[in-house]
Amino acid sequence: MSQLLRIKCPSCGQVVDIQASGAPCTKCKTPLILPEEGVLQLYRMGNPLGMAVGFGVYLNDIPMGHLANAESIRIPVGYGHYKVTFSQGMSRKCQAAEVDITPENRFAYVKVHIKPGFFTNTLVAEQTTADQMPPL
Ligand SMILES: [Zn+2]
Repeated sequence: MSQLLRIKCPSCGQVVDIQASGAPCTKCKTPLILPEEGVLQLYRMGNPLGMAVGFGVYLNDIPMGHLANAESIRIPVGYGHYKVTFSQGMSRKCQAAEVDITPENRFAYVKVHIKPGFFTNTLVAEQTTADQMPPL
């Protein structure tokens, strides 16, 4: 998986993947300071159909870029409650995962998979455990 950390630039709103806190935004060059309280790790389970489309990633309905097939990303976050949802193309049909980042629970893991439907597919996000994440 990627060692990069995803963050939304507070200045210009660009979603960027950076290696360490303090790295500049790729768009406006603002130094990006990562929250250090917790980390959300998201994993898109591999799909044998090899869906080429990236899933849109949303934290509390705020767009956080995309997630490729079988990709995993980490998003540093502050303490709080997070609703994690995904989109596929124009479809926002997704069963949300709700997670809490607290001083006792600083890491949360969410995996997402496609549940095929008759007309449209639904994405299912669910909270899971570290051992369900792909190896580093
Ligand atoms: Zn920026």
